[in-house]
Amino acid sequence: MDADIPYLLLTPGPLTTTRSVREAMLADYSTWDVDYNQRVMEIRERLVRLATDSDDYTAVLMQGSGTFSVEATIGSVIPPDGKLLVISNGAYGSRIAQIARCLKIPLQELSFSETEPPDLLQIRATLGADSDITHVAMVHCETTTGMINAAQEVGKLAHAAGKDYILDAMSSFGGIPISMEDFHVDYLISSANKCIQGVPGFGFVIANQQKLEQTKGLARSLSLDLYDQWYEMEHKGGKWRYTSPTHVVNAFLQALEELDEEGGVSARHARYLENQSTLVTEMQKRGLQPLLPRELQSPIITSFYYPECPAFQFNQFYDELKQRRYVIYPGKISQADTFRIGNIGHVYPADIIDLVEQIEQTLNGMGVRVENPSIH
Ligand SMILES: *Cc1c(COP(=O)(O)O)cnc(C)c1O
Repeated sequence: MDADIPYLLLTPGPLTTTRSVREAMLADYSTWDVDYNQRVMEIRERLVRLATDSDDYTAVLMQGSGTFSVEATIGSVIPPDGKLLVISNGAYGSRIAQIARCLKIPLQELSFSETEPPDLLQIRATLGADSDITHVAMVHCETTTGMINAAQEVGKLAHAAGKDYILDAMSSFGGIPISMEDFHVDYLISSANKCIQGVPGFGFVIANQQKLEQTKGLARSLSLDLYDQWYEMEHKGGKWRYTSPTHVVNAFLQALEELDEEGGVSARHARYLENQSTLVTEMQKRGLQPLLPRELQSPIITSFYYPECPAFQFNQFYDELKQRRYVIYPGKISQADTFRIGNIGHVYPADIIDLVEQIEQTLNGMGVRVENPSIH
């Protein structure tokens, strides 16, 4: 851990960034200047290249947190006579449905429990039964639990049924390999402060350009008009409509550079996998059990059951770990008491090993006794 940071963020974004990414924010840029706009163009090009080798795709950046880009997409690409099928098994899937309801977009929500993978047969049946559906949306890594959803299989079903496919790959893109073609994704959404390891301030959408070009005039919002934002960026050399987060954009270009230096998405994926498996192995040695079975678990964030001991108080645990320079994440599911530990960002297996030692000491200090630890 760098000496100049107060703590390591073990959260799914914002997350711990490198000093060099933070230093890229020390200069002020004009949103009108050509050198800034060229950086925007470079970012757009590099984002597309992370997802495909094909020239059929384009990228749009959008001000705001990731949800703004989800809302921009849902609100801009579904025609007035369209209908959205949302497949949900957690808070972020439900949020997509909530956006559609808010925008009065015809909606069918196929919900599964937070610990259950979406049922492909049921999805296929729903697509076959309702010909009004024009678009399908799902979350790739459901950050609520840490579950990885079958995004490629759902993409195949959507494609076979002739539907456009919107993938919230917010917490996976850059950290898990995704191919636009293989996943049949028409609109992939992510943001600056997740696996690309930039700082918060904008989201982005990688889109099938031909399909995006057909959405002119469909947006239900002025500032969140995806087509208009794309048109401006594409035809005015990297200009955004309205003020853009210049410092964040610079930090993001540096983050993309560092992703390349690390060896690209596959190398980052390998590091995240190692972080996550180290975390589970070390936690299980202390008797702390993950919520999900291994085959449903993403390499991004892991939910753990609370220790079954009355001395365990999450708030105290959280505060004491923070004093030991680790910030974890509360749980978000209704069926069980859990907390979450993210392992994305500028975080390495040695950090994870130290974290779990700190967790053990913290629990001992609180008088928490964990049943069935495999050591001690
Ligand atoms: C982080 C995240 C979002 C966006 O959240 P914001 O707080 O708006 O940045 C959306 N979906 C998923 C799956 C996420 O992990």
